[in-house]
Amino acid sequence: MLTSPILESLPWLEHGFGTRQAPLSQDGMASLKQIHSSLSLVADRREGCVGEGDALVTGEAGITVSIRTADCLPILLADPVGRAVAAIHAGWRGTHAHIVTETIGRMRSEFGSVAANLVAAIGPGIGPCCYEVGEDVARLFGMERAGRLDLASENVSQLIEAGVPLDQIGVSGRCTFCDPVQFYSWRRDHDRAGRMISFIGVLHTRKNTKSAGTRETSRPALSDFQIRRRAPASRRSFLRLRRPAGYDPLFLGTGCNKASRAQRPAASG
Ligand SMILES: [Zn+2]
Repeated sequence: MLTSPILESLPWLEHGFGTRQAPLSQDGMASLKQIHSSLSLVADRREGCVGEGDALVTGEAGITVSIRTADCLPILLADPVGRAVAAIHAGWRGTHAHIVTETIGRMRSEFGSVAANLVAAIGPGIGPCCYEVGEDVARLFGMERAGRLDLASENVSQLIEAGVPLDQIGVSGRCTFCDPVQFYSWRRDHDRAGRMISFIGVLHTRKNTKSAGTRETSRPALSDFQIRRRAPASRRSFLRLRRPAGYDPLFLGTGCNKASRAQRPAASG
């Protein structure tokens, strides 16, 4: 399981991005029937399918929201002030429909979240090294002809436009197509591709932190200990963008090796 240091710094939540080597199950988590939309839903249960959509939000301790991906981007959001979280499935359709913007709007209306406070982590997905799209899709993203789409950069741009500060956005930079050992890739494996689970949940709301008489700096609760045992130290695979200004999309384009490019199939939408 991969974790993002920018989210690990928040002791009131748990999160992770599953891999082939460390597969996760959605048992005990709220999930979605994913439809490549910009729909976000508030998780109303601890386990099972909440409904059709591509983002799940919650501000309730004990509810873990989860999504499945294999090339599409898993994006996790956290509001450290209101203690609300979101798990987002963003492929090209959801990205074009601005699913991160829609989800931030949902967090604002449900939990009073302010974009400037949000922390975001973009997990492994197909990278610009491997994601060739046809002209129809390319044009949706302002490209003049078929070419390579950088989904992570598109979503970082949308997060910034929505008001999330660049230094509160972490990007994995890992390409699912390039690494068949760690990741499933729908483009590479087609029907044989499994799905990777990404999740985020609130461990302690402010209210129950206070009532328990503890502070974040106090000794970890039992649940914290369990979470740490579940999470191996693979955080170095995450890049944290620290550039205060002059956002450079090329900075995100890491994690792919040239050798695998020869195996890339012909472009197909
Ligand atoms: Zn790649």
